[in-house]
Amino acid sequence: MAEGESSVGEVRIKPDRLHAFTMAICRADGSTDEEARLVADHLVLANLFGHDSHGVGMIPHYIQNTATGACVRNHHAKISRDNGAVIVIDGGAGYGQVVAKEAMDIGIERASKHGVCVVGLTNSHHIGRIGHWGEQCARAGMVSTHWVNVHGHKSLVAPFGGAEPRFTTNPYCTAVPRKGKEPIVLDFATSQVAMGKVRVANNKKVQMEDGLLIDAKGHPTTDPGVMYNAPYGAILPFGLHKGGGLAVICDLLAGALTGGRTHSPRTIKKDSTDIINNMLSIIIDPRSMGGTEVFEDEVETFITWVKSARPQPGVDEVLAPGEPERMRRADREKNGVPIDGTTWQQLLDVARKVRLNDTEIPQMAAA
Ligand code: NAD
Repeated sequence: MAEGESSVGEVRIKPDRLHAFTMAICRADGSTDEEARLVADHLVLANLFGHDSHGVGMIPHYIQNTATGACVRNHHAKISRDNGAVIVIDGGAGYGQVVAKEAMDIGIERASKHGVCVVGLTNSHHIGRIGHWGEQCARAGMVSTHWVNVHGHKSLVAPFGGAEPRFTTNPYCTAVPRKGKEPIVLDFATSQVAMGKVRVANNKKVQMEDGLLIDAKGHPTTDPGVMYNAPYGAILPFGLHKGGGLAVICDLLAGALTGGRTHSPRTIKKDSTDIINNMLSIIIDPRSMGGTEVFEDEVETFITWVKSARPQPGVDEVLAPGEPERMRRADREKNGVPIDGTTWQQLLDVARKVRLNDTEIPQMAAA
């Protein structure tokens, strides 16, 4: 069996059916239509972009958290500190797909007025794929950069040189709009691999690549099970001391600077399923800097120049950040979204748990 190939089978679901199924689960769990739609939009888009770790496979976790109150349904963002171009927004553990959208709406409006807005979003339930928020800003013509930390659950990622975890997968994103084209979106976890990808590998019962994980003694391993069975191992930070350093900066900017709190013994809940994200976003209106015309022209000139590099042997094309996701989307729109068997079963189980009509489940699930 090839690496990454599922040993538990997979189903392929058309995106619109997956969206309807996800929305129906959230609605049956008590979310308003609008909340259910925002959650489904976000998760299905993550699947379409190929980031299955942040796709509909998160739903069982979300529904578990709404039951405990770790994720608060139908909650909205509230400004907790307002200095005009610098604002702090309390997510109140509401669905990240709702409160982060609302935080970005406010940030975009303020950036249009002041030229820039620095937004601290604190105490939000999981905000998913951070590129989603960069894309929201880019659609409004804004450049944005986002630094995110996570607390509420145990540590997952070892610091550079460490044999035990001290923080989590702390993602970073910058999105740059383009005239008449899709934006440049650089969006990644500062760990070698997102935790959701370890979950997907563990669900699929496949080994991971070398260089991503260490076991409890700090030795390299390819077994995703080290993150699920004691004694626990850790995920390594990406990019050696440079990526390890960025991961630390994410916690300092998103957790300390915003007041949302860092990942530390004060916020770690060892056996908890909570996922709280804090995010520092800097949203900049290009009109307030070099001017829109210069900006748009320079972005196109530079990206064309970068992409004109002769590809290395075995590489088809030099891609700009964001392009791989759009290529995967084109394929998945056409051929359906692959969902591994374990994740699919978890979705069916959660649909029953929220008492989604028994006749509705197979009908909605049919690809
Ligand atoms: P990844 O390693 O797949 O990197 C993705 C980034 O690299 C994208 O910007 C992509 O366009 C770019 N890229 C990939 N291949 C490229 C190529 N050949 N040429 C040019 N650019 C290329 O991403 P990841 O680290 O696995 O993260 C996956 C997702 O998980 C992200 O959306 C991230 O925001 C999300 N995440 C969220 C949380 C959270 O707490 N909410 C935590 C961790 C990760």
